[in-house]
Amino acid sequence: MSETNSSLAETEVEDGKNRRKIKCQFCRSIILNSKAGNYVNFEFDLPVIKLTKSSNKTEDNIENIIETEKIQDFWLVKDIYTFENIGVSNTVDNKKYLSCADCEVGPLGYHDLNTKESYLALSRVEYI
Ligand SMILES: [Zn+2]
Repeated sequence: MSETNSSLAETEVEDGKNRRKIKCQFCRSIILNSKAGNYVNFEFDLPVIKLTKSSNKTEDNIENIIETEKIQDFWLVKDIYTFENIGVSNTVDNKKYLSCADCEVGPLGYHDLNTKESYLALSRVEYI
């Protein structure tokens, strides 16, 4: 039962871990070293990335609807100090969303306050 269901997982997972270093796709900051995350597969609704540019906010109605994307591939990081760089949001439902420590783009995944484990979405980061 170790089949992967995305092409990204096929190319990036090696021995159940991330083959290459993981970096932010916006500012290229290193987030996680190679082999530091364990590939896990489950469904989680993660809010979509909102770029924090306020230049085109001309609408009168402020949208409070949080769009989510169903993510199925994650890197499990058991200790948040394993990350090279990571930022965390305010607590929402006993979770903190992970963002880039440098450019603050996110969420790239989430941190579970119950288990202290972090889950980084495969599709929200880049690889070098
Ligand atoms: Zn960044």
